[in-house]
Amino acid sequence: MPNKNRQNSQALYQRACLSIPGGVNSPVRAFKAVGGTPPFIKEASAAWLTDEDGNRYIDYVGSWGAMIMGHAHPEVLAAMKQTADYGIGFGASTKIETQLAEKIKACIPSIDLLRLVNSGSEAVMSAVRLARGYTGREQIIKFDGCYHGHSDAMLVGAGSGSLTLGVPNSPGVPTATAALTTTIDYNHVEQLEQVFAQIGHKIAAVIVEPVAGNMNFVPGEADFLTTLRRCCDQYGAVLIFDEVMSGFRVAIGGAQSVYRIKPDLTVLGKVIGGGLPVGAFGGCKEIMQHIAPLGKVYQAGTLSGNPVAVAAGLKTLELLCADDCFANIAASTQTLSANLTDCAKRIGLDFYSDSMGAMFGFFLGTNQKVAKLNQVTRCASGDNGELFKRFFHAMLAGGVYLPPSPFEACFVSAAHDTNVIEQTLATAEKALLKIKNQ
Ligand code: PLP
Repeated sequence: MPNKNRQNSQALYQRACLSIPGGVNSPVRAFKAVGGTPPFIKEASAAWLTDEDGNRYIDYVGSWGAMIMGHAHPEVLAAMKQTADYGIGFGASTKIETQLAEKIKACIPSIDLLRLVNSGSEAVMSAVRLARGYTGREQIIKFDGCYHGHSDAMLVGAGSGSLTLGVPNSPGVPTATAALTTTIDYNHVEQLEQVFAQIGHKIAAVIVEPVAGNMNFVPGEADFLTTLRRCCDQYGAVLIFDEVMSGFRVAIGGAQSVYRIKPDLTVLGKVIGGGLPVGAFGGCKEIMQHIAPLGKVYQAGTLSGNPVAVAAGLKTLELLCADDCFANIAASTQTLSANLTDCAKRIGLDFYSDSMGAMFGFFLGTNQKVAKLNQVTRCASGDNGELFKRFFHAMLAGGVYLPPSPFEACFVSAAHDTNVIEQTLATAEKALLKIKNQ
């Protein structure tokens, strides 16, 4: 049944705009890249969202990657409720925080010690401060199109909503702060080596999304990531893998387990909170012992390690690690990505899709592998950008909720079973035919 009526969402959006900037609490939700009114979500269950007008959508946003077990998973809800019955937060230590830390360490062996925080942005900000405190240096290297949250140092050449809105360098970021962040092209080995040759001894840290999910879906190339590790070792810089998106998503052990590269620090978020606000940064003991109260680098949080949030995260990780759960999600993701490509090819549209684990991306306007930001931008602008908009809206009308920007990746959950995948492919076929013939 196609979704048409969104009157209630429209009214709620107008009302929200009177009290909340742009009607949203995070910019990409505003549909700026695709136009139209965002559906206001009333409830979600398994792979499905229901909006305030009663329209149902298969969800490929999954709270931007967090909902890997699907929405409102009964066991996650039960764990949260059970925990909440004993009180919802104490600002004091609890057993369950250590259990979550132990679970994360068991899955990501590069982490000896980790600190829980409330978001990916906070975790990145803290990891960068730690790297600076540890090395006594100030310069940070990041890559164009990678997004690491909205702290000042990271809003230089950023991806995600920042790319979508065309504000790669946000007003309000002090020039002096921005000057301490050098950006390099993603997957560009020569540029990386050149920058290290020029300023290597000033570099505190290099931060990277080893699999980029904020300029659509662009996996890091193995030689790029290996060079990064080598340069950091050679010049004594801290290598930070931002696995807020890729952690427990491209593989249980994150991208570092896929590429077999050990970062010094890892930043996590999304899946480790099971949909509630949890982030973390962690790594080797030598560096982590510089964080307060062990060391002098200060970092703190009133709500950090909140028991209800931690319970949701821990149960999510336990479910994800059980039996073939992750392998099954990865297989569904791969099937979806491959069949979308075949379908577009049959219809005669240029289309490229790729996946890793439970995450995938697709590009309209090319059938070549996409590895650099300028290639992504080509598929997201001009005629290709228009094609994306039309495809997005045709999918939405057909009951499939994709990320509302060509710069975002798509997320699959354990609840996306064969029926859901088949329904998605049937909707996609109609949508691709429609945009081809428009
Ligand atoms: N790092 C990466 C790779 C992300 O994808 C995000 C958010 O999308 C962040 C950091 C920031 O996380 P949060 O939105 O939880 O602050």
